Amino acid sequence: MTEAMTGDCLFCSMVDREIEPDVVHETATTLAFRDINPQAPTHVLVVPKTHHRDVAALAAADAGLLSDVFRAVAAVVEQEGLEGRYRLVFNTGAEAGQSVFHVHAHVLGGRPFGWPPG
Ligand code: 5GP
Ligand code: ZN
Repeated sequence: MTEAMTGDCLFCSMVDREIEPDVVHETATTLAFRDINPQAPTHVLVVPKTHHRDVAALAAADAGLLSDVFRAVAAVVEQEGLEGRYRLVFNTGAEAGQSVFHVHAHVLGGRPFGWPPG
């Protein structure tokens, strides 16, 4: 288990390997794995291993860990060959499409993206 909450957090369960994700990158503090319902040819989720609700909560609690998440994003981007052509998304709050309340970066690539997003 990790930090306070977790019993019913999907991504904590993946960090703890109670559910086995398709891991593409891992550090001491972060885990990156493929989204089960990919929205682009490459769709990877990057999470801190400890539980924080969203990016603002993570920034307030542990700026170093926030930095680790972005370094992990950069490593995934390089590993997947997406340098300079990817979309990085943090859906924040149910109204904005967040469905798992353990902060995660979506790294999307391999196709063109429109703006504004849907
Ligand atoms: P959100 O909607 O919170 O921004 O993103 C949650 C993401 O988690 C979605 O893109 C969804 O497809 C993904 N997801 C939900 N359940 C699972 C699962 O069991 N395994 C994996 N790998 N991804 C999941
Ligand atoms: Zn969690």
